[in-house]
Amino acid sequence: MPLSKRGRKKYNIPLFIPHEGCGHDCVFCNQRKITGLQTSVTPEKAGDEITEILGTIKNPDCDIEIAFFGGSFTGLDIGLQRRFFEVASAFKDERIRGIRLSTRPDYINKRVLEQCLEFGVKTIELGVQSASDRVLEMNRRGHTFAQVETAARMIKSAGIDLGLQMMVGMYGSDPAEDIETCRRIIGLEPACTRIYPTLVLKDTLLEQLYKSGQYEPYSLGRAVGVSAEILSMFRKSGVEVIRVGLYPGEDLRSDGNIVSGPFHPAFGELVENRIYRNKIEADIINQGLKNCEYEISAKPSETSKIIGQKGANREYFKQKYGVKLCLKQI
Ligand code: SF4
Repeated sequence: MPLSKRGRKKYNIPLFIPHEGCGHDCVFCNQRKITGLQTSVTPEKAGDEITEILGTIKNPDCDIEIAFFGGSFTGLDIGLQRRFFEVASAFKDERIRGIRLSTRPDYINKRVLEQCLEFGVKTIELGVQSASDRVLEMNRRGHTFAQVETAARMIKSAGIDLGLQMMVGMYGSDPAEDIETCRRIIGLEPACTRIYPTLVLKDTLLEQLYKSGQYEPYSLGRAVGVSAEILSMFRKSGVEVIRVGLYPGEDLRSDGNIVSGPFHPAFGELVENRIYRNKIEADIINQGLKNCEYEISAKPSETSKIIGQKGANREYFKQKYGVKLCLKQI
C-alpha cells in the first residue's frame, strides 16, 4: 500500500468516465472494456458512488483522493467538469484530501487548469503512450509528443502533480522505442507514472490490424522484459510508478474481449520478478557461476519476488546455469 506525502496510507475512489469527452479513436482503445463499466457515471450518480466506496474504507488515518479515470475528463464540457468537481468537493474532509484525473495532453489549457485549481485538483495524469510522433500517428492518437511536453509544463507550473502514462508494444513500436519513451518521460520529471502493455481488444482497429497480419503484439515474456527495464529506469530516476499492467476487471477478461496480447492478471508481479531475475543473473554471469548453490539473504516480503511466480525464477536458474537459489530470511 503506497504512502501519501503525510506518511499515511493512500486510497483512491475511482469514478470511471468511459470515453466521455473523447472525440478520438485510438487504434487500441475500447474504453468501456478497459474501465470495466458499460455506462458512464453522471454527476448525480457520482455522489452515491463516492459514499458507497467511502463506506468500505475503514482506516481513520489515511489520505483519500477522488479520481476521475477512464477517459479524457478535461475534454468534457467545462460546465459538466464543474458539476463533477462540485460533487467531489462536497466530500472533502480530514481524509479526503483532493481530486485526481486522467486526460489527454491536447485537452489541457489555461481555463481547464484554472478550474482544476479552484477545486483543489492535486494530480493530473496524461496519456502519453509513446514519445515517437510516428507511433502516435500510426495509433491515431491525434496529438504529438510536443503537445505532451507543453501540457506537462503547464500542469507543473500550475503547481499540480504530473502523472504520465505510457504503453509498451504499441503498433509500430519496438523495445528500443519503448525505452526511448521512458527516457523522454523521465526528462519531463513527472511525480508518477503508469506502464501498460498493449493488448488487442475486441472491436478495435488494432484487432483488424492484428487479424490482417499488420500488427504482432509482444509476447508475455517480451512485454514483461521491456516493462522490467522501464520500471528500473523510472525507479533509478526517483519517479514513482503507481501501476504496471491493466486492471484485470471482469469485463476486460470476459469471454473473447482480449483477442491477443500479453495479458496476465498479475502482470506487475511478473515484472517485479523479472527485475530480481535480471539482478541475480547479472551477478551469476559476473562471477561465472555454474552448477552451485546461490545464497540470498532477503526480507520475507521479498522472497516471493525472488523465487518468482510458481518458482519460475528458481527453475530458470536451475535450467540455465545449474544454479540452485537458496533463500535465507533476514
Ligand atoms: S483518447 Fe483515450 S479514451 Fe479516447 S480513444 Fe484514445 S485512449 Fe480511448
